[in-house]
Amino acid sequence: MSPTYNTVILDIEGTTTPITFVKDVLFPYVTSGLYKFLTDTWGATELKQHVELLRQQAELDAEAGMKQAVLIPHETHSNADQVKAAIQQSIEWQMREDRKIGPLKSFQGYMWKSGYETGELQGQVYDDVVPALDRWKADGCKIYIYSSGSVPAQKLLFGHSEKGDLLPYFSGHFDTSIGSKIESSSYNAIARAISIQPSEILFVSDNVKEIIAAEEAGFQTVISDRPGNAPLSAKDRANHKVVTAFDQI
Ligand SMILES: [Mg+2]
Repeated sequence: MSPTYNTVILDIEGTTTPITFVKDVLFPYVTSGLYKFLTDTWGATELKQHVELLRQQAELDAEAGMKQAVLIPHETHSNADQVKAAIQQSIEWQMREDRKIGPLKSFQGYMWKSGYETGELQGQVYDDVVPALDRWKADGCKIYIYSSGSVPAQKLLFGHSEKGDLLPYFSGHFDTSIGSKIESSSYNAIARAISIQPSEILFVSDNVKEIIAAEEAGFQTVISDRPGNAPLSAKDRANHKVVTAFDQI
C-alpha cells in the first residue's frame, strides 16, 4: 500500500535516538568535562556571557531563599580557579536538581556545541532511521523534526550524527516554541506553518500523550517502541499503530 501521507514529522528521543542519549551521553559530557572546558575556553567572550547569566541566576536564587544556590564571584574580585570552582558547583547542583532554566540550558548548549564541533560528541541515531529517510525522500515526502530539544540542539545532533550530517534530509525543525508537544493546538500550528493538511501528515513519537494530541489535530500517527522507552499499555497497543523500527512504517 502506498503511503497516504506526504509529510513525516519525527520526534527525537525514544524515536530516532535512544531515550537515554541525553541522560547517558549529553549530561555526563557536561559534568565530567566541565573544569577542563572552563580552562580551555577561559577568557572567551561567549563563555563570559554564559557565566554572567549563571551569576545573575544564582543571585536571584539566593534572594529567593534557595540555600544550595552557589554564588559565582566576579573575575575581578577572585582568582580564576575560585570562579571556575564556583561555576562548576553551581552547574552540578542545578543539574542534580534537573532544573529547566534558561542560563543552565544555554550553558549546556554552548558546551555541547563545542563537543559536537570537535567530534567529541556525536548524535546517536538508530540504524533503521537513515534507510527510512531515504525511502521517504524517494517517495517525495517532506520530513520535519518536532522535539522538546531546542532547534539549535536538534541541528547539532543531526548535523554531527554517527551516521554523518543528516540535516539535508529535513525540510524544517520545530521545538516547543510552537507549543507543548502534548497539546493538539501545537500540531495544528505546525500543519499551518508547513501548509499541509493534518490528514496528510504522519507523526512518529514514543510518547502516547503526544500521539493522542497529534491524532486530535487530525494527524496520522505511529508509536515508536524502542529499547528503554516507557512501557506501553495494552490499551495503547490496541488503539495505536506501534513499531519497533522505522522499516515497519
Ligand atoms: Mg520522545
